[in-house]
Amino acid sequence: MSIKVIGANKRYGDFAALDNVSIDIPDGQLTSLLGPSGSGKSTLLRAIAGLDTLDSGTVLIDDDDVSRKSPQKRDIGFVFQHYAAFKHLTVRDNIAFGLKIRKRPKKEIDVKVDELLDVVGLTVFQKRFPAQLSGGQRQRMALARALAVDPKVLLLDEPFGALDAKVRDDLRRWLRRLHEEVHVTTVLVTHDQQEALDVSDRIAVLNKGRIEQIGTPDDLYDRPTNTFVASFLGSTV
Ligand code: ADP
Ligand code: MG
Repeated sequence: MSIKVIGANKRYGDFAALDNVSIDIPDGQLTSLLGPSGSGKSTLLRAIAGLDTLDSGTVLIDDDDVSRKSPQKRDIGFVFQHYAAFKHLTVRDNIAFGLKIRKRPKKEIDVKVDELLDVVGLTVFQKRFPAQLSGGQRQRMALARALAVDPKVLLLDEPFGALDAKVRDDLRRWLRRLHEEVHVTTVLVTHDQQEALDVSDRIAVLNKGRIEQIGTPDDLYDRPTNTFVASFLGSTV
């Protein structure tokens, strides 16, 4: 599924969190929204998810105008920064949760959850509770839970933000591999240049509610079109 945002504006008082942002996110790719804190990344992601309404602008998913649709009607899976797992449910039941509330047949749920546990490498931990997992394992559970309902689009807001460097590196590599297997259109919000360069097909660099540049990691790094992008990525113009 492709995503198009056209002319998105969002103000908080006098402050423009999104200043006439347009972006095309191609089907099946992993696109990162990269920028410093406060640049509007989460606001843009939440607008795509339907968790925030825009002051003006349009969100299209596969050319269908979803601007006025609720998050549930957008067929989107999301993992936000301070992800809350259900503490009283096992890993298995956390992953199965979305399928159960959709009242899928038990057999189908079991098959799907087994498959996802395998994909995220948590089969042996399936009977544990979230508190008994490491931070990295909890994030993998969150991703499996988001993927369980076959979302058309996966939105990730700084999913590895709170983890230490080694675990973060492992998860980045793992996310890239997962994406190559599952190929769901993915939008990753991050302020971490290395993360964006490592995992993305395309990167949009945001600054003060605007998109400064969008392109492949090589494009941005080798051919930054302005000094903000160059200095933010640590390349030379
Ligand atoms: P990022 O995710 O890039 O760090 P955000 O999209 O969360 O940035 O926020 C962009 C700007 O909008 C920030 O300056 C933030 O303070 C402001 N902002 C976001 N949400 C609100 C809100 N609910 N009320 C007031 N200001 C907000
Ligand atoms: Mg944010």
